[in-house]
Amino acid sequence: MSGEQITKKKVKVIKIDPSKCTGCRSCELICSASHATPKYGSTNPAKARIRVMFKPLENIYLPVMAGEYTPAECPGRYSIIIDGQEYGECAFCRASCPSRDLFKEPDSGLPLKCDLCESDPTLEKPLCVQWCYHEALTYEEREEEVTEEVKLDQMEVALESLVDRYGLEKIVEGIARMASKG
Ligand code: SF4
Ligand code: SF4
Repeated sequence: MSGEQITKKKVKVIKIDPSKCTGCRSCELICSASHATPKYGSTNPAKARIRVMFKPLENIYLPVMAGEYTPAECPGRYSIIIDGQEYGECAFCRASCPSRDLFKEPDSGLPLKCDLCESDPTLEKPLCVQWCYHEALTYEEREEEVTEEVKLDQMEVALESLVDRYGLEKIVEGIARMASKG
């Protein structure tokens, strides 16, 4: 049995401003170094969880963080038009998918995904944000309300069924009587 409760959840957000991105690729370098084995032992942008798109867009640099792995490519096709410029359907996609090599570990082919640099101890800001000196990447944390399912323990389940059967008032009276008897 379960119920629901509203709780606050911390949401981490990396904001991307392509107009400030110079294409320096420091974000790719630090991301790959921090995920290398040993940590910071090597750099390889092909192993980074962030990739600065340039060729597909031709006129701007766009940093994209690796998202979820998907086992199948999209069944449909679409294009995006911004300021009269048409972009291909994969230009802004974060997925590690079978139709392209992006966001795959070059040696093993395993999917790469941005983990927001979650580490112990927690970093004040993700590393790509710290290394972006042009402020194309900025970081913020905000709180959002989420509805969570709460599992009730056995005693609560029993109490809930008694309340359903006899009503809360009767149950409270019964408990008060038992307490007075010691
Ligand atoms: S570090 Fe910043 S400016 Fe440099 S490529 Fe990455 S997002 Fe762009
Ligand atoms: S947040 Fe961390 S893991 Fe994600 S792209 Fe930036 S450096 Fe890489």
